Amino acid sequence: MMGSDKLRVIYVTGCGASGSTLLGMMLGAHSEILSIGEVFRLARYYRDGLTCTCSEKVSDCELWAPVWSRLEWDKLIDVDKDSERLFQRSAESKYEAEVVHPLAVRRWRDAFYKAFVSENLPTLQTEHLFSALNLETGKSIFVDTSKVLPRLWYLNRNPNIELTVVYLVRDGRAYINSLRRPRDFGRFPGFLRSIVACVASAVWANEWRQSHANVSAIVDAGELERVVRIRYEELVADPRSALTPLFDSLGLTYDDGIVEYFKGRFHNIAGSPSRISLRPLSLETSWVKSLTWWDYFVFRLIAGRRNVRFGYGSFCPADPLQEQQY
Ligand SMILES: [Zn+2]
Repeated sequence: MMGSDKLRVIYVTGCGASGSTLLGMMLGAHSEILSIGEVFRLARYYRDGLTCTCSEKVSDCELWAPVWSRLEWDKLIDVDKDSERLFQRSAESKYEAEVVHPLAVRRWRDAFYKAFVSENLPTLQTEHLFSALNLETGKSIFVDTSKVLPRLWYLNRNPNIELTVVYLVRDGRAYINSLRRPRDFGRFPGFLRSIVACVASAVWANEWRQSHANVSAIVDAGELERVVRIRYEELVADPRSALTPLFDSLGLTYDDGIVEYFKGRFHNIAGSPSRISLRPLSLETSWVKSLTWWDYFVFRLIAGRRNVRFGYGSFCPADPLQEQQY
């Protein structure tokens, strides 16, 4: 039997499409840390025969197959019996307003919790999952990029897990562009295309703003013991200074080798498609040219203030590198 250290979890939260997969793999390139990706999706990946980052099916993967068989099913939560109790418990918490929209009718909240609990069945009582990973790999520090807030809530309340939260932030304008890129608005006729693109930008800007409002509310509530803030752009431009505070808080030494993360082999669950064909670090600035004046206008109206609070601009940057002092 390997490993007996205290289980330590680095939980990455923030908005999606902000570089959490990259951050997870960079940290996972450190000899003492294991990157597991968006592990709250593990049950679905296993059940539906989806593939791990190593390209094997999760059920055949050299890491997840043995970990799965170690999970102690009798200790896992019974969905139907316990979902109501879980909801009750969370309702007592300050997190409730963030986790479940306060205006949502009860039926929706119940549906939300049912969906959440079933998706998370083997990972809800997360300690068992991390114990299994510890026994299988001997590692005791895990980087979990799930980001979802209910999971953070559970992790933070588990006395056997030492939690470090990373609040990862990326320029909201780059976020909008990365959501738009894979979409094809070309099938719409000219004038309609601009309107659809503009509405989409407004929706994404609002998602980004709301998601940061939720995370900030939790971080500012002061219930989390260790929170380290990282800006994606600094992570890419200068990994050592961006990550040193995190490594210090973990009691580990920063290792320059982690920038060679792309040579590694990972077993992340889900995450950015970039995890499949790993490339060296490079700062993505194509959004500056891709976004239109209307995109900037809509973004500024909806999310400009929040972006400025994170140290970014709120409109069209003349020179993003200079503006943000990377
Ligand atoms: Zn794998």
